[in-house]
Amino acid sequence: MEFSNIAEELILSIAKEDGLELAKLLYSLGNIDEFTLAEKFERDVNYVRSLLYSLYEYKIVSYSRKRDPKKMWWIYYWEINNDRINELLLKNIKKEIIDLEDQKLKLYDNQTFECKECGRVFNFEASAENNFQCPACAKVLQYVDSSFLLKEVEDKIGSMSQMLNKINKELADARIEEENQREIAKEKEKKKKTAKRKADKKKKTEKKTKKKTTKKTTKKPTKKTVKKKTIKKISKKKTTKKK
Ligand SMILES: [Zn+2]
Repeated sequence: MEFSNIAEELILSIAKEDGLELAKLLYSLGNIDEFTLAEKFERDVNYVRSLLYSLYEYKIVSYSRKRDPKKMWWIYYWEINNDRINELLLKNIKKEIIDLEDQKLKLYDNQTFECKECGRVFNFEASAENNFQCPACAKVLQYVDSSFLLKEVEDKIGSMSQMLNKINKELADARIEEENQREIAKEKEKKKKTAKRKADKKKKTEKKTKKKTTKKTTKKPTKKTVKKKTIKKISKKKTTKKK
């Protein structure tokens, strides 16, 4: 498993280079305990823990723990939370698209004029105020064709939107996969239960048939005791009724 470039950038901004390298290793290893992870990362376990915590602050990693049966302490198992990375990316991309849309509007609104001499740039209002002359070098200001800038911004919005769709799809797929796994688990549980019920029923009928067969073989000696018991019960009931 490998991160996308934008995912790497995101992790780098959160956890610096070592954090990113550790995240990459963890992603390739899957669920793993922190001691083995530290060994593979060739760094001290405490340092690895500190990196994991900085990733955990953003829930980029998640953990589960198990008690070591010999030493009785907790062992932490870590894994990459890819859905969370995608969620963070979505948030960032959405923000970036909003910024770009803003830029686009400004490009539409603001015609720009430039002094070819000193490179200063003015909007329409400022240029008009100075009679379209540069206030510094008195050169005539030239209209800047910003259509290429507009195209740049629009291209960026396009690629950002594509990324957004891709990540959304990935998240949706992950959700569907999760739902499927849950359904499968449910179905398994159901089958287990019905199998158990059947097995229990079978056991019961086996016991009954066993009893019957044992009754048949030892019919004579048990007959008397059974009779006595039923007589006792009846007599008890009778006495309680009288009271
Ligand atoms: Zn100038």
